[in-house]
Amino acid sequence: MSEMLSIAVQKSGRLSEKSLDIIRQCGIDFGTDSRVLREVADNFPLEFLFVRDDDIPRYVSDGIADIGIVGRNEYDETGLELEVVRDLKFASCRLSIAVPASFDYKGLRSLEGKRIATSYPRILRSVLDKAGVSAELVVVSGSVEITVQIGVADAIADLVSTGTTLRMNGLVEAECIYRSSAVMIARPDMAEEKKRTLYRLMERIDAVMMARKKKYILFNLPKDRLDEAALIIGGMKSPTVTPLMDPGWLSVQSAVDEERFWSVFESLREIGAEGILVMNIEKMTE
Ligand code: ATP
Ligand code: ZN
Repeated sequence: MSEMLSIAVQKSGRLSEKSLDIIRQCGIDFGTDSRVLREVADNFPLEFLFVRDDDIPRYVSDGIADIGIVGRNEYDETGLELEVVRDLKFASCRLSIAVPASFDYKGLRSLEGKRIATSYPRILRSVLDKAGVSAELVVVSGSVEITVQIGVADAIADLVSTGTTLRMNGLVEAECIYRSSAVMIARPDMAEEKKRTLYRLMERIDAVMMARKKKYILFNLPKDRLDEAALIIGGMKSPTVTPLMDPGWLSVQSAVDEERFWSVFESLREIGAEGILVMNIEKMTE
C-alpha cells in the first residue's frame, strides 16, 4: 500500500487560494501555475485533485480522494457521513433567511406555508423541521437572490458573508440559521500508511493554524518593570528575557494572542517598553 495521500481541492473559487496557502505554509511544495487535474507535491506524499467544490464530499466518500477541503455547508448538504478532521477557519459564511423589506419577519414561524428558495434544501429543511415549520422549498442551484423579484419565492435561504448581494437585490437578512467555514474532511476507512501521512499533515496544519493566531513581540524594557510586563503578556510560561549592555534595561520577547495584541501593545507602552518589534509567526507548537 502507498503512503501517498490524495486531497481534493476546489479548482477555482472562494476556497482555492486559501486551501493551497495553508498547504504551502506546511512546507509542501508543488507547481503553482497549471492546476492540472492531478498534481503531486515535490516533497511530501500528497497528490492534489482539482475539482468543483460540490463534488468534493462525494469524491472523498467514493475513495477518489482520501481527504478534501470544502465548505461545511457543502459537506452537510450532501448528507454523507465522513470524518470532519479539522475546522480550518477560513471562508467563513452564514446561511441566512432573507426577505423583501415588505415582509414582516418575526422568526422562523413567519415562514409557515411560504415558498423559500435555496441551494441548501437539506440544511434548511432540518432547521425548519426543528422549529416545527412547514414551508415549500424551491431548490435552485445559483442566483438565489433574484428568486423573490422574479416571483418564484417569498423568501430565500442563502449564503452571506457581507450582505451586499442581498441589499443589491432588495432583500434584508432576517436571521442566520447556520454557520460555515472550510473544513478538512476524510474518508473513515483509510489504510494505515495513508493515515500516517494524514497525521503528519494535520500536525503541520495545526502548527500553521496556531501560528496564525499569534504574533511574536520583542521589546526593550526598564529592568524594574519586568513583573508588570509578565502580567500584561500573561498566558505564557514566561517571556524570554535577555540582558542588554545598559544594566538598567532588558530585552523581552514572547508570543501574544493576535486578538489581544493591541491591548498588550498599549499596556507595554505604558510601563515604558521601547523599540517594540512585532513579527508574524510562521509555525508553532504547543
Ligand atoms: P464551484 O465552481 O467550485 O462549484 P462555487 O461557485 O459553488 O464553486 P464558491 O462561490 O467558490 O463556490 O464558494 C465556495 C464556498 O465558499 C461556499 O460553499 C462557502 O462555503 C464559502 N463561502 C464563503 N463566503 C461565501 C459567500 N458570500 N457566498 C457563497 N459562498 C461563500
Ligand atoms: Zn460549487
